[in-house]
Amino acid sequence: MSDRLGRALSEPHSDSSDETPKPRPESLTPRSKRRRFTPLKVANQIPKRRRREIERALEGSAGTPKKWSRQSGPKNHNFMRKRISPGSTRRIEFDLLSVDIGESWPTPVTVIHGSRPGPVVTLLGAVHGNELVGPLALTYLTGPNFVGPGKPIDPEVMSGTLRIVPVVNMPGYRRQSRYMPDGRDLNRAFPGKPESNTTFRVAHKIWNEVIVGSDYVIDLHTAAFGRTNMPQIRANLAHASSNKIARSFGIEAILDNVGPKGSLRRLTNESDIACITFEGGGPNESDPESVQISIYGILNVLRGLRMIPGHPSRPRFRILASGSVWIRSDQGGLLDVLAPAGSFVDEGEVVATVTNPERPSETHEVTSPNKGLIICSATHPFVTAGTPVGHILPVSKGVKTIRKRLDEDDCLVIAGSDGDPPWREDDDVEDITVGGEWSGGSVDAEWGVNDPAGVEEEAAEADP
Ligand SMILES: [Zn+2]
Repeated sequence: MSDRLGRALSEPHSDSSDETPKPRPESLTPRSKRRRFTPLKVANQIPKRRRREIERALEGSAGTPKKWSRQSGPKNHNFMRKRISPGSTRRIEFDLLSVDIGESWPTPVTVIHGSRPGPVVTLLGAVHGNELVGPLALTYLTGPNFVGPGKPIDPEVMSGTLRIVPVVNMPGYRRQSRYMPDGRDLNRAFPGKPESNTTFRVAHKIWNEVIVGSDYVIDLHTAAFGRTNMPQIRANLAHASSNKIARSFGIEAILDNVGPKGSLRRLTNESDIACITFEGGGPNESDPESVQISIYGILNVLRGLRMIPGHPSRPRFRILASGSVWIRSDQGGLLDVLAPAGSFVDEGEVVATVTNPERPSETHEVTSPNKGLIICSATHPFVTAGTPVGHILPVSKGVKTIRKRLDEDDCLVIAGSDGDPPWREDDDVEDITVGGEWSGGSVDAEWGVNDPAGVEEEAAEADP
């Protein structure tokens, strides 16, 4: 996570739910009552034809299916040959491979079956094994801070069923790799084949035993190696039920596209199962901001589906985007990113510099071709001419609205990122007294001296 986003995390802002409006700072006060609960759509990125396609899809969508009718009464949830009774939670181990000898890659699944009828929602993490935001968020979400009497997810109160798989690609996760052990990408292998290669076998088993029977799927990802994503939702907005949960997730940026071939998102939509992908942070890092926003969004979706009590919180605006612009370096060398993912930049603004050890006197400035929001930025410093440095959503309308939600570094304060991480409790914070004395006479003395004016002072203090 960048420093900018880190600071954004600790800064309070109000994004209260409809039920309990909190006082807002002056700059965030809505101008008129009408606007208050009406999200502003900055939809200039979605072309007209696609917008009509989305509208048509939404018009044709049905209401609550009969099978969730609250009158039908509680029933057991059958999952992997186990019977889960209403109002209970069950932890199951799911073998990714069916073998008598050799590794079967057992993977934990938690099923929370509410006491009232409702949809089946499947939550997935680490389909790419080294993307750790999902495993962290879903582990917290199945823990005692979120599940139980009086907690956001109370099986006794909940309608419908949650299937939670914090780590889908268990062998990749154990090897800290995006890929399956045979080098294939699990998220390009769906629906898989039972007699094909290892990855296709695993995909087939996940599809048939975990995904089938779901009404909604939320798949948590991060950017791939060498980059980091501003927290965002990706969904096919012309798929009505996916559109619905993409909005109720409650964050600002929604990228409209059909998932890549072989991806879970594409196949679920083709099978008329709603699916959204959350993207936030980068691989091999914990990025607490993305973890926090993903938990916030999942709870919003569950509220939106009326599975848990309360109303989903809404963002101050939404960017519905169907296209982006790449920012590339035109020179080779080592990158210094000045405007990381989440930054709002002007056309011509310097977003990064490139220097080269062979030509230390020269600096190449990488500028933004548009005004807009950087949704992904490079974290790997090595670049050659043409290497993408950032990925920008060009914004021409709604600029004023976006600016109101920027922190002092012009970084977007994303809905759900404020406040303390909800998975930590005050009891967990222990005061520890540390004795001893500072080596060199002051806290930073051993770092070496950068400030020439401070040299004499430090030396005088340190010398006896
Ligand atoms: Zn991924």
